[in-house]
Amino acid sequence: MANDDKFKKVISHAKEYGYVFQSSEIYDGLSAVYDYAQNGAELKKNIRDYWWKAMVQMHDNIVGIDAAIFMHPTTWKASGHVDAFNDPLIDNKDSKKRYRADVLVEDYCAKIEAKINKEVKKAEKRFGDAFNKDEFVSTNGRVLGYQEKIDTVLKRLGKSLENEDLADVKALIEELEIADPMTGSRNWTDVKQFNLMFGTKLGASADTAMDLYLRPETAQGIFVNFLNVQKTGRLKIPFGIAQTGKAFRNEIVARQFIFRMREFEQMEMQFFIKPGTQKEWFDYWKDTRLKWHKSLGLGEDNYRFHDHEKLAHYADAATDIEFNFPFGFKELEGIHSRTDFDLKQHETHSGKKLQYFDHEDNESYTPYVLETSIGLDRMFLAVFANSLQNETLEDGSERTVLKLPAVLAPTKAAILPLVRKDEALTNMAKDIVEDLKWDFNVAYDEKDAVGRRYRRQDAAGTPFCITVDGESIENNTVTIRHRDTMEQKRVKIEDLHSIIKKEVDVKEWLMRME
Ligand code: ATP
Repeated sequence: MANDDKFKKVISHAKEYGYVFQSSEIYDGLSAVYDYAQNGAELKKNIRDYWWKAMVQMHDNIVGIDAAIFMHPTTWKASGHVDAFNDPLIDNKDSKKRYRADVLVEDYCAKIEAKINKEVKKAEKRFGDAFNKDEFVSTNGRVLGYQEKIDTVLKRLGKSLENEDLADVKALIEELEIADPMTGSRNWTDVKQFNLMFGTKLGASADTAMDLYLRPETAQGIFVNFLNVQKTGRLKIPFGIAQTGKAFRNEIVARQFIFRMREFEQMEMQFFIKPGTQKEWFDYWKDTRLKWHKSLGLGEDNYRFHDHEKLAHYADAATDIEFNFPFGFKELEGIHSRTDFDLKQHETHSGKKLQYFDHEDNESYTPYVLETSIGLDRMFLAVFANSLQNETLEDGSERTVLKLPAVLAPTKAAILPLVRKDEALTNMAKDIVEDLKWDFNVAYDEKDAVGRRYRRQDAAGTPFCITVDGESIENNTVTIRHRDTMEQKRVKIEDLHSIIKKEVDVKEWLMRME
């Protein structure tokens, strides 16, 4: 299936099976704002829990907080968001469409990269087993030429953005003859900066109301609480503070479903360390976070690191964990070495000391910070899109199956009486539901032929179907069908709990990080 079609299928499946709806759909929706439906809310909660457990519960030195969305407005002056949280935008005069200028250039480079990949594939075919990819990309003239072009363009873009030289960004777009991807027009306006924060007001009367922002990231709620948490938790460096919560950005280009939303959720952790140790911790968290992703089994090849050429004003090193979304490799998580920028800025703007006294070294210092920041919605999209598969079965029929990692699946098992009209079967099935629901999210389904019910649960992502039939009444056994293999086994009802637990238990999955 072409990538575009695959992505459309992801969006329609998310709606059809109660995962994600357009916000306010009855009023024709609100652009780049989405609601999570009955299954989506469960999947999202399970991803959040999986992250929280790995980051907070399993680390003795990381605690979690839940800071407010509204913060004192000076926070955003101190953090640099008022002055520098901008995206360079450009309008096409003919189509009236608005784009992020840097994204247009990056997409141009992605196209050249696609050419490199094509060359690699061709050579792979030609040389067969003898093919050595590293050697090929470092010696093949055509590939080297492409790579040089990418490097030159990205370097110039990085420099122009760093120097706020927006005229040069426009010049670059013109030199590269980049056209409006929707219409092909090259009639561009100048590049302008656009602040992404949403403003609002606190207070009733017009003259006393205070201008506020909806937080564009959760990180600042952690920084301003740094000392309170450290003192009350008696925490020693190195230690981390984590939180999950909503963030808001008035994104210029927001048309990739839940990949880029105007209201979204982040899962962030700020790790406070001794200055000078940031490189070591940067490597540690890169490694640890990648292991967390890989533990979910979405495919080792679907991840890659992308080190930043252009560093944000606060960072001395930064990398993205990119995931292979239906529209290509894009940022899923950011890992940033933020130095002491944030704490120092808050010290300056608040006039309060935000230092740590190190008893071992008998000295006070402003800690450095290592941040891991992942979008919950992007993670949802990565999991959901990757799990949605179309299979042709042995008998030639097709099935749509949502192979969600069982630990994240909204419903762990569906209990199905083979025949709806047989009260002995329905009662027994309902008893199983009553028993299992203390520990697992389970569903009862008696409508339609059992084959259709299996397909429905496959498409909804339920890892197990448990069928109660005539034999169940005789010997207290049921069949348990596995979503991915479609294998069915007869098992004792009393064993159901442990069979399901083994497959959906967070511990079993997180242990794969080792
Ligand atoms: P991008 O370059 O894609 O705009 P970013 O570098 O601005 O992302 P960060 O500020 O590092 O993103 O935010 C951390 C994480 O929050 C990102 O890795 C992403 O998963 C998530 N995120 C950021 N913006 C959005 C958004 N508009 N919608 C959904 N998730 C987002």
